[in-house]
Amino acid sequence: MYKTIEDEVLKKAAPAELQAEFIQHEFERLHTFCLLIYLTSIAMWIVFDLIISYVGGQGLTWRSVPFIGLFAIFSIILVFTRKARHFDVLNLMFALTVTFGARLLIEGLPQDLQPAWLMLAATSILYSASTLPLSRWAFFATQTVTWLMLNPFFDGDVELFDLSGVMMVCYMGFFCALTLYTFFILRKAKLYNFIMSRLLLDQAYIDTLTEIPNRRSFMTRADKQLHRVPREHDHYLAMIDIDNFKKVNDVYGHDIGDEVLKRIAADIKAVMSRFEYARLGGEEFAIYLTGVRREDVEALAGELCQVVREQVTRHPVTISIGVARVLDGDTLNQALIKADAALYESKHTGKDRYTFHQ
Ligand code: GH3
Ligand code: MG
Ligand code: MG
Repeated sequence: MYKTIEDEVLKKAAPAELQAEFIQHEFERLHTFCLLIYLTSIAMWIVFDLIISYVGGQGLTWRSVPFIGLFAIFSIILVFTRKARHFDVLNLMFALTVTFGARLLIEGLPQDLQPAWLMLAATSILYSASTLPLSRWAFFATQTVTWLMLNPFFDGDVELFDLSGVMMVCYMGFFCALTLYTFFILRKAKLYNFIMSRLLLDQAYIDTLTEIPNRRSFMTRADKQLHRVPREHDHYLAMIDIDNFKKVNDVYGHDIGDEVLKRIAADIKAVMSRFEYARLGGEEFAIYLTGVRREDVEALAGELCQVVREQVTRHPVTISIGVARVLDGDTLNQALIKADAALYESKHTGKDRYTFHQ
């Protein structure tokens, strides 16, 4: 069963904005990993620089300093990079510097060792790049830069059509294909997982009928607000219940009842967009208000009652609201009980109004 549903979902192509969201999500998840790859690459470069300088007997020159400086700058920029598309550009500059630095190091080796080490450097860099959260263009650009900079045919040591030339071209082709394939296959699998988990989260936290957050979502987010310190202003919790809703169902039918629920949800969303709101279940809704004073809550509750009452529609309804101030030691459930008591007051004093819990 799950397989069929999964296949159905994944048959549709992912929209561009979902793909962009995925890339950003990947980058945020792998931020530390990217930094690790950078630091490891830099450490490798420095170790080889020291080996070639001392074991190779060439002595360390000032030319290492600008590279180490640039590597440090790129790493610091990466620490503060927050957007995946900025990382694409940063990584291209890093690849340019690393490949150029590697080329200079390898040119310090004896001639006969150079082609093989150019290949080793290029393949290591490409393998690392294929694991990074890059967008397509950035990965292609990194491939291009790497092969341009670390190309063993560049200074004429290797001939294209002699034995080692042909072997190298084959190996380059093989490695290019392998890393491209790995990059795209892994990316596709991760994108699918992202889409599936996004869909499941939506279904778990969004109310299907009204398309506003559900009770589970509200309890999590309101609880987070409740425990947020310090509090700028008092917090308030409002409970909303549609008046005489049973009658709407009885007179017009359940479908019209559902339409009314959707309409009320849209009204709540319009008036309370700054706050946490949800459909708790049935025809009950809740709102958790922060950063407001009592006068603001009164104005907002009054406005919501009025918006619902004055809707131009063939099936007019009204709502009742109960509001409780959330005290410092209150749990969310205690606040809900108080708001419910205030709602009961509203119902028993004539409906279509808001009442504050005493
Ligand atoms: P009151 O003014 O005292 O609130 O009276 P009421 O008729 O609204 O009473 P109550 O709040 O108990 O009514 C709840 C009704 O809401 C009962 C149920 O038929 C209806 N209801 C609950 N969930 C849904 C739903 O998803 N769709 C529809 N159409 N009706 C629902
Ligand atoms: Mg009710
Ligand atoms: Mg009701």
